[in-house]
Formats: sequence, structure tokens, C-alpha cells
Amino acid sequence: MLQNMTKMTDAERTMMMDKNKALCICGRCPTYNDCAKGKMELLYCATGKSACTLIRNACICPTCPIIPMIELKHAYYCNNGSERELRKM
Ligand code: SF4
Ligand code: SF4
Repeated sequence: MLQNMTKMTDAERTMMMDKNKALCICGRCPTYNDCAKGKMELLYCATGKSACTLIRNACICPTCPIIPMIELKHAYYCNNGSERELRKM
């Protein structure tokens, strides 16, 4: 899916991002904070690092419902960057 994303139109990519944002569980994570909430940040696995200072306090990405769909292999995307960045794609 990550590779397919590069072939999508902007509209298709936006639609997929909106759909996945609705599934993202970052808002329930102990690491997520008011700054991230205020900026309505989600889906760090796709968008990359947070613009906020997020202190690592567990990552619940491994329990996210989108993991099986896009075969994510990492965690702490809010600190480390997107899956694509981490895989150097
Ligand atoms: S894997 Fe993590 S960053 Fe990506 S949608 Fe799920 S909870 Fe959010
Ligand atoms: S990427 Fe992981 S650590 Fe960061 S807020 Fe989302 S679930 Fe928590």
C-alpha cells in the first residue's frame, strides 16, 4: 500500500488519509498530549514527526487497526518519522 500511495492522485491520497485518520488510535496513547490534540495531529505513520514535543510514554501503534492493512513495521512514528522515512523508501 505504501508503494501504491505514490501512484495515487492527490484526491485519492487525501481520501485514503481521511479514512485512516478515523482509524488512528494515537489520541488514546499515553504519549499523545494536549499540544498534539490542539493541532489535531494523527496518523504519524504516514505524516511523520509531530510538531509538538511528545515525551515517549509507550506507543500503542502495534494495536492499531490499520497495521494489518498497511503492514507497518515500526512504532513511535510521532518521534521517529513516517514508515516511509524509517524504511528509507
Ligand atoms: S499506526 Fe500509529 S500513527 Fe499510524 S494510524 Fe495507527 S496509531 Fe496512528
Ligand atoms: S505514534 Fe505511537 S507513540 Fe506516537 S502518539 Fe501514536 S501511538 Fe503514541
